This record gives sequence, structure tokens and C-alpha cells, in this order.
Amino acid sequence: MSVMQKFSLEGRVALVTGGNRGIGRGIAQALAEAGAAVAITARTAQAAQDAAAELTAEGHTALGVALDVTDADSVESAVAEVEVALGPIDVLINNAGISIGGAALEIDDDVWTQTLDTNLNGVWRCSRAVGRRMAERGGGTIVNIGSMSAMIVNQPRWQPAYLASKAAVHQLTKALAAEWAAHSIRVNAMAPGYILTEASPVDQPEYYASCVEPAAMKRWGTPEELGAVAVFLASEASSFMTGSVLVVDGGYTLF
Ligand code: NDP
Repeated sequence: MSVMQKFSLEGRVALVTGGNRGIGRGIAQALAEAGAAVAITARTAQAAQDAAAELTAEGHTALGVALDVTDADSVESAVAEVEVALGPIDVLINNAGISIGGAALEIDDDVWTQTLDTNLNGVWRCSRAVGRRMAERGGGTIVNIGSMSAMIVNQPRWQPAYLASKAAVHQLTKALAAEWAAHSIRVNAMAPGYILTEASPVDQPEYYASCVEPAAMKRWGTPEELGAVAVFLASEASSFMTGSVLVVDGGYTLF
């Protein structure tokens, strides 16, 4: 197999949680361009279907499905729906996440539980639903979207729940990788730095000072750049990697 063939996802089925916008949309685009049939999820069917329609219009195979990672029944039924429509899922990208700011002494329990339930428990629910099926079929790849915030405390926006949730995702990645290697399931994560999406606070000068200036490359990353890394981790190109956390942060955490 040539090196270019190793990056190909031709014939594979991929599920991207939260694939309708931001980083997830960039990842869905890259997986589709690498040849995968891509299921995009959002919390509403309409948002998921609209994003999938964009891929379909470009000639890719795509499906939009409603999925709420905080609801185990929703996860099960979305996974089942994808497999009926597209076939067995080979690639799971656990991207859905929320980031609610708030200092430790100010946030209420809701912020804490909602963040952990989405960012950590959501990864667990989706990994278990898809991982069980992958194990029965003899393998697959899972890519979790962690964060450099699992490793550093970024300012000026305090967000202890978010940081804790992402650190746990990194460790869950390693735990599942260790257990599921016996089922030929590879589990890796990426730890993005500041990525420019519609939600990024580009118009606020203090965020430029804290998000861009400290990075060695002195710019935001893009969803497209994370998409390329996702293709690498999802494909045979990374066949000897499991339990790894790839830092993709433009050199932010070097200092
Ligand atoms: P966005 O806010 O742009 O998108 C979040 C996505 O997650 C949406 O598709 C949203 O769906 C989905 N989502 C949120 N809650 C749920 C839920 N309960 N169930 C299912 N889907 C849900 O975020 P980003 O693109 O910026 O971030 C994507 C991932 O990357 C997150 O895990 C984030 O923590 C991580 N990350 C982001 C960085 C950045 O700089 N942007 C840096 C490092 C990590 P819907 O449209 O229905 O709301």
C-alpha cells in the first residue's frame, strides 16, 4: 500500500459528533474529501441535515442525524440510524463539546455538571455505543477532540469545569486505547490550541493578546488544519498509534 493509499478513507463510514459547525464541520469536510461516507450530527436534525446537504452537493456521501451526547437513548438511536443508512461505522470522531466560562467561586453546579456531562460523559456514551459495535466487527478508529486546556490553565477566561473535562478526555483516551487494542480499535486524541470558528472572540483585543500572541506561530488554527490531523488519526497512516494525544496548537504550549 502506498503512503497516499494509507491516508485514504475510501469505503469507510465516519460519524462526527457536532459536525455541523466549527471544528467538527472542518473535520467532516476533510474525512469526506479523503473518501469516507460521513454522518454529521447536531442537536437538531435540521442543522445536521443542512450541513450534510453541503457535503452531498459537493458529490460526497453524507447523512445528517440528530444526536444529543448527554442523552444515552439519543446516542443509541443515532448510531443505529447511521448504520442502517450508511453501514457499519469505522471511524468515530468525538468532537461535540461546550465551553462555558466562569471562575471557580462563581459558577453554579449546573455549569459544572453540564460541562462534564457533555464533554466527558458524552465522549464516553458515544465511544461505548460505537466501540461495542466495532469490537463485534473486529475493529475501528476513534478520535477524541481534547484540548491544550487539558495541560495548561489558559487565561483570561477562567473555566475550571472545561479544563477538568478535557483532561479527563485525554486520560479516557488512554484507558480505552489500552483496553480496546485487543479488539483492534485504536483510540487517539488531539489537543487543539486556539482555533478560529464562528464562535471565536476575534473582535475582542484581549483575546488576541491571550490566544494568538503567546503561540510560537502567532495565529489562530483553522478547522481545516484539524481536519487533516483527523484524517491522519482515523486512517491507516497512523496504524501504529493508539493512546496518543497529538498537540495541534501552533506552538502555544511550548512556553
Ligand atoms: P462550536 O461551539 O463551534 O460547536 C460545538 C459543536 O458541538 C456543535 O456542533 C454543537 O451542536 C455540538 N454540541 C454541543 N453540545 C452538544 C450535545 N449536548 N450533544 C451533541 N452535540 C453537541 O465548538 P468548536 O468547533 O469550537 O469546538 C469543537 C470541539 O473542539 C469541542 O469539543 C471543543 O471543546 C474543542 N476545542 C475547541 C477549541 C477552539 O479553539 N475552538 C480549542 C480546543 C478544543 P449544535 O450546533 O446542535 O449546538
